[in-house]
Amino acid sequence: MQFRSDQISGKQLSALGFGCMRFPNRGGRIDVDASERLVLAAVEGGVNYFDTAYAYSGNEIALGEIFARNPGLRDRINIATKLPLPRCQSADDFDRYLTRSLKRLGTDHVDYYLVHNVTSADVWARLKELGFKKWASRQKSAGRIGRIGFSYHGPEGDFPILLDSYSWDFCQIQYNYMNEHYQAGTAGLEAAAERGVPVIVMEPLLGGKLAADLPDDAKAVLEGAGTEADPVRLALRWIWNRPEVTLVLSGMNTMDQLEQNITTADGALPGTLEADEARAVELAREAIARNYKVPCTGCGYCLPCPQGVNIPMCFAAYNTSFAHGWYQGMHQYVTASGVMEGNARFASDCVRCGACVEKCPQHIDIPDELASVKRRLQVPGLPRIVRLGTRLMMR
Ligand code: SF4
Ligand code: SF4
Repeated sequence: MQFRSDQISGKQLSALGFGCMRFPNRGGRIDVDASERLVLAAVEGGVNYFDTAYAYSGNEIALGEIFARNPGLRDRINIATKLPLPRCQSADDFDRYLTRSLKRLGTDHVDYYLVHNVTSADVWARLKELGFKKWASRQKSAGRIGRIGFSYHGPEGDFPILLDSYSWDFCQIQYNYMNEHYQAGTAGLEAAAERGVPVIVMEPLLGGKLAADLPDDAKAVLEGAGTEADPVRLALRWIWNRPEVTLVLSGMNTMDQLEQNITTADGALPGTLEADEARAVELAREAIARNYKVPCTGCGYCLPCPQGVNIPMCFAAYNTSFAHGWYQGMHQYVTASGVMEGNARFASDCVRCGACVEKCPQHIDIPDELASVKRRLQVPGLPRIVRLGTRLMMR
């Protein structure tokens, strides 16, 4: 296994991290026996970082059960779990959820603790008001938390603001060859590295869309690119090629996936992507992008919208719905709406004020294209359902 340094703590982390969210399922429930086999094989293969979250149903409990069955296992690895931010109304809630996570995991400390799904700089303002800074340093002093970080799903422009808002020990971003200019993107990866903040990468395969679900023309391009690299290996090697990446999380739920990823991680040192591999990625990216309908680069120059519409995220979801299927686009559309902040805004909230149009370097007719987004992704009643769901979740 290749190890990379968490440059703040000095810990050596396996370049491949285990995303427990996709533990194997049986009958709608986590298959703990199958998950245990995977976890043990991963540890045997050198993986020492396991990522879960309070909000992943049954996930922390399953991991805790695996630890209970295997004495000594917990101390051989790093656990990362996450604070369910939308449910927190006070510092007491921070305490309550951390305590529950520790109990579920059967441990007295979490090595890496993340504020889950930060989507804008405003979220940080709310956290600060709730007394997060004091609370976090108390937990670190008490040894209940090792390192404090955040997982990010907001616009590119807010990411450096977040990085500079607190002395974060690490951050977690969505990053893959299709998301260089989406959310934190390459600019965010480099901004974190400049500040010496370790970067954990999530969604390296865009929820599997860069693996088995590649569009046919992208598959054909890869087959004809003269490289023997398969899509998963290529996508992962492209990320590990960046020295700024500390580790890549993969949600592996079969032994074959695990073994292949361990082998890939081992040889994927920074700067070792071959020229033919880089070319194959470029061709695959172009083929996927040909399925995109709006030429939005995600630069964010059009923001802020006075109505709170997350314009680039709406277009990213819309494009995804053509390149990778309607369901994936829809899922992205709801996530991008700001649902986790309790203030969901949709393409339908555009009032055509025109404030964004002049700012777009791609000359996109933003209000018209948002209307297309609405027609394709906004099923009747969606805003009402999402807002109701958010209210229930925040109780
Ligand atoms: S035209 Fe629509 S999207 Fe653009 S700034 Fe105005 S309300 Fe926002
Ligand atoms: S300014 Fe244009 S290209 Fe940039 S994010 Fe907004 S819509 Fe996309």
